[in-house]
Amino acid sequence: MKRKNVSKYFGCMVFDDRVMKARLSAKVYQSLRKTIDEGVKLDSSVADAVAEAMKEWAVSKGATHYTHWFQPLTGITAEKHDSFISPSPNGGVIMEFSGKELIKGEPDASSFPSGGLRATFEARGYTAWDPTSYAFIKGKTLCIPTAFCSYGGEALDKKTPLLRSMKALNKQALRILRLFGNDKVNYVTTSVGPEQEYFLITKEMYDQRKDLQFTGRTLFGARPPKGQEMDDHYFGVIKPRVEAYMADLNEELWKLGILAKTQHNEVAPAQHELAPIYTTTNIATDHNQLTMEMMQKVAAKHGLVCLLHEKPFAGVNGSGKHNNWSISTDTGVNLLSPGETPYENAQFLLFLCAVIKAVDDYQDLLRLSVATAGNDHRLGANEAPPAVVSMFLGDELNGVLEAIEKDIPYAGAEKTQMKLGVDVLPKFNRDTTDRNRTSPFAFTGNKFEFRMLGSSNSIACANMMLNSAVAESLKIYADRLENAENFEETLHAMIRKTIKDHKRIIFNGNGYDDAWIKEATETRGLLNYPSTPDCMPHLLDEKNVRMLTSHKVFSRTELESRCEIMLENYCKTIVIEANTMVDMAKREIIPAVEAYTMELAKTVSTKKSVDKTLACQYESSLIKKLSILTDQIAFRTDALETALVEIQDVKDINTQSCEIRDTVLIRMQELRIACDEAETVTAKKYWPFPTYGDLLFSV
Ligand code: ADP
Ligand code: MG
Repeated sequence: MKRKNVSKYFGCMVFDDRVMKARLSAKVYQSLRKTIDEGVKLDSSVADAVAEAMKEWAVSKGATHYTHWFQPLTGITAEKHDSFISPSPNGGVIMEFSGKELIKGEPDASSFPSGGLRATFEARGYTAWDPTSYAFIKGKTLCIPTAFCSYGGEALDKKTPLLRSMKALNKQALRILRLFGNDKVNYVTTSVGPEQEYFLITKEMYDQRKDLQFTGRTLFGARPPKGQEMDDHYFGVIKPRVEAYMADLNEELWKLGILAKTQHNEVAPAQHELAPIYTTTNIATDHNQLTMEMMQKVAAKHGLVCLLHEKPFAGVNGSGKHNNWSISTDTGVNLLSPGETPYENAQFLLFLCAVIKAVDDYQDLLRLSVATAGNDHRLGANEAPPAVVSMFLGDELNGVLEAIEKDIPYAGAEKTQMKLGVDVLPKFNRDTTDRNRTSPFAFTGNKFEFRMLGSSNSIACANMMLNSAVAESLKIYADRLENAENFEETLHAMIRKTIKDHKRIIFNGNGYDDAWIKEATETRGLLNYPSTPDCMPHLLDEKNVRMLTSHKVFSRTELESRCEIMLENYCKTIVIEANTMVDMAKREIIPAVEAYTMELAKTVSTKKSVDKTLACQYESSLIKKLSILTDQIAFRTDALETALVEIQDVKDINTQSCEIRDTVLIRMQELRIACDEAETVTAKKYWPFPTYGDLLFSV
């Protein structure tokens, strides 16, 4: 296929600034720009003009429908399409779209999780246009990014709290910048570049496995003879079929204005990664949702299936998402970049300390922001960062922090005393040491890379917690500095105190090492929440509720509802997996093993009918082994079913989630062990679905 010049079609499906400028009157454009940049309320005549221009543009691109596109707590995006048509008196139709329809929609909120909010508030919800994220066309539909709230104003989505957290961070960061005499900056924003991992298998294989279809991951499967041990996949040659897929995917993403940039194979066979160029967090979140959707759609066109589950295959690397995060000003300064002058460096160190303090004080929020049943398989499985949150800063910064803490000369090039005045602080370099790949939260020169996210997670959750926690540190600093008699001394003392109080969160060693978990929890007192039921309830810890409500990122009821939804989600996910296992074990695996046993038995009797003295030892012992395994599988399936019945009586969601983890999940593992063993001794032609070898090397 001949491909067009990317710069010609990049963003062609986006109602972006170029289109706005071309299609709106100067006056309308300026007021819209003010709304986008400064959050100024849009008046209705402007909204009408924008809606009209959007519709004209969309229709010219072949769109017939529009939708308010939003991100309910299900984790995927939702849309309800309405056509532009409106009857005209002569029996025909005209295409219409008003400012009112642009600004507000009313999807039926009752079909989305609300975690108790529905009982307290009205069932109806509404969507409100988010002008900071451009509208775009997908298929034949104009998609308008929106926030989703209940009529009481409670957020029912992931975008609303994310936007609130960005606002909170902006407010506190501006206070700090003003204290440093910086009054040119109008706003501060966070940017994210999420690296997205995924697996590709053929549709043909996928269609033969109920577990993949119902749960997104394999619930059975013995280790293949070859896995990832040769390390030959990572950065290896991309196979032609995958290459064609990636090329198509890039084209679709580029049309949507998504800056898809890097693509390569990952560690496991059939695993790949895509990374875009970073952009404002809100837009990065929308784009990542769209990217995941497009990955699946484009795969279908190529006869492939894209698996976004965190752990599609046991014993093989899972998929994560690295959230590269930084804070910058509208004047283009990255506040996490060591500066050129001592003055800038003092400011940089303060922002760095704000992040250190935030990560230590709110380890629990960061951990739970990535918690799902799927991601629990990854964190702590020696392939992803452990469930314990810690930070990596690199040797250079460690040296700087140590010098400040101990009041000793910094061992850099000039061995300068680290007096944190604004004019004596030496210039220091960006970190040049090797990056620590095992750290959950690593400083990588001018940004932090939060690596605990699962591949299917919306990045909204991690970023709303991160932004809020950092806003809180900055607020505490600003409160103190604004009232300081001596700015420089207070600054120095504050930074020293942060280092002293929070250095326990900094760890530069190997995060996969068991000794680290021991040290982290026993010596340093860091939190270790291995599973979702362990961490999620801490969302409602008083310190967390206080912080998140004080910055107006969440109300208490919103937090209560979210905690419930996340735990419900965890329970439902595992129950569906368990039911799928029971179904596959009873209706596919046992019959297959029985059929093979039967064939062996027939072989024995046929052989013996030829020659009575034949021992048939091989067949006999295999028959015995298979029979034992069959009984075991049947018995363990029963046990799993019993556990599923028992948890139905547990009404409290916290207790239920713990019981599911402690009984259902354990019995699932036990059932799997017996089935996987049966797989290794059953003739291939009897095995009812593709094996790991088939799946992982299918493309
Ligand atoms: P890797 O971590 O694999 O070495 P890179 O460092 O090149 O890869 O970048 C990974 C991601 O980080 C990309 O999406 C990139 O756009 C993003 N990124 C780079 N700089 C920043 C920044 N200042 N803020 C946020 N994200 C950034
Ligand atoms: Mg990375």
